[in-house]
Amino acid sequence: MEKPDIVVVGGGPCGSYTAYTAAKLGAKVVVCEDHKEIGTPDHCAGHLNISSLKQLGINIPKVALENEIRGANIYSPSGKKFVLRCQAPVTYVVNRELFDKHLAEAAIDAGAEYRFDSRVKSLLFDSGYVKGVELNRKERMETNVVVDAEGCSSAILRQAGLTGLRSSMVVRGIQADVEKVESVEDDMVEVYLGRKIAPDFFAWIIPRKDGTAKVGLATSTGNPRQYLRMFMEKHSVASKKLQKSKIESVSGHPVPLAGPIPKTYANGFLAVGDAASQVKATTGGGVVFGITCAKVAGEVASQAIKINDFSERFLSLYQQQWKKLAGFELSAMLRMRRMLNSLSDKKLDNVIGLCNRLGIDKTLERFGDVDFQGSSLFPMLRNAGMLSVVGYFLFSWLTSPTRQ
Ligand SMILES: Cc1cc2nc3c(=O)[nH]c(=O)nc-3n(C[C@H](O)[C@H](O)[C@H](O)COP(=O)(O)OP(=O)(O)OC[C@H]3O[C@@H](n4cnc5c(N)ncnc54)[C@H](O)[C@@H]3O)c2cc1C
Repeated sequence: MEKPDIVVVGGGPCGSYTAYTAAKLGAKVVVCEDHKEIGTPDHCAGHLNISSLKQLGINIPKVALENEIRGANIYSPSGKKFVLRCQAPVTYVVNRELFDKHLAEAAIDAGAEYRFDSRVKSLLFDSGYVKGVELNRKERMETNVVVDAEGCSSAILRQAGLTGLRSSMVVRGIQADVEKVESVEDDMVEVYLGRKIAPDFFAWIIPRKDGTAKVGLATSTGNPRQYLRMFMEKHSVASKKLQKSKIESVSGHPVPLAGPIPKTYANGFLAVGDAASQVKATTGGGVVFGITCAKVAGEVASQAIKINDFSERFLSLYQQQWKKLAGFELSAMLRMRRMLNSLSDKKLDNVIGLCNRLGIDKTLERFGDVDFQGSSLFPMLRNAGMLSVVGYFLFSWLTSPTRQ
């Protein structure tokens, strides 16, 4: 086999988008995927912002589109409801297996080659440079740039000498596919807050049009399965909607919430997506920001091939560029997550109560952005109600004994 210019570790959305971008720019790319197929097992809710997908130029094929969502019903720890409804759909719910397959097909059409059942076990080095990978079955593949899109295991990342994900900020996600959900509006997602429901995160019900839904949560402590069972059977609001539900399947997976790792490049090496923790710490959404960074990784890696420079000095361009696009947002959302985690259930109840009393749903509808939450906050602060809510939120955080 001819030596590839770039080897991508992992055929998730970020690996495939890196491969697609680099192959389109003329690089010879091989993607090594651990599993026999793209997109399985599926662990993700697939809740994606429509405007961000449009900006990235990603069209969702009809078969992968499960629903269009106009907003969220958010429940406080004591069950108070705050409704945020937009006139037009703002997010899609996609089938992640089919979405991932769609991105992989685009990469293959652009010229990338996929190797399935091909787990990368270790990196090969030469004179301080990553120079290839060793696969299961002891097969070796030499290359000039390895792009690590392995998701959140950090196994390959650490071999490259980069800092792995901090376990203190990785929450454990779990999601069930259920049938027969009742009293859930089919164009609204439901979000449930509370320390007893999902410590340091939230629980969700994401409906499809056919009465089925994805029901999940993530937690920083305890057993996610037990939390999910408690949520479905005992939550004062959710249990009524789910009392006739039948669970079709359950899957679990970690969600990194610590903000991006400090360094995402080394000699002959780049890290993207969950591997680099390019994830919104507020919601755990990693697809859009991961793909945004994967596009930059594909561009910088193919440029490196053209000028024959695989040094970390040149590849640092990747970090400079993705930080320009997503750095502020990712760190603003990390701060918001830390603040949210330090609030007691009582304070969260007060924040939801204030949002209702001050009618800030209209402000959020007008200025809020599902992905760019940091920069959309500033125009919202011109609204007196929003300013009061943020003021109360900050005060609660500053006086919280668990401030982080
Ligand atoms: C319960 C849950 C719900 C979520 N909901 C949403 C949501 O609604 N919206 C959203 O935007 N995000 C969501 N996320 C996050 C989202 O799933 C991830 O951010 C996203 O999948 C990251 O993509 P990735 O390509 O970086 O990694 P992954 O999707 O994890 O892909 C990594 C790939 O690499 C392969 N691999 C790993 N190691 C190796 C190896 N050594 N050799 C070869 N292949 C390897 C794996 O098999 C996998 O195919 C959710 C996560 C969880 C856990």
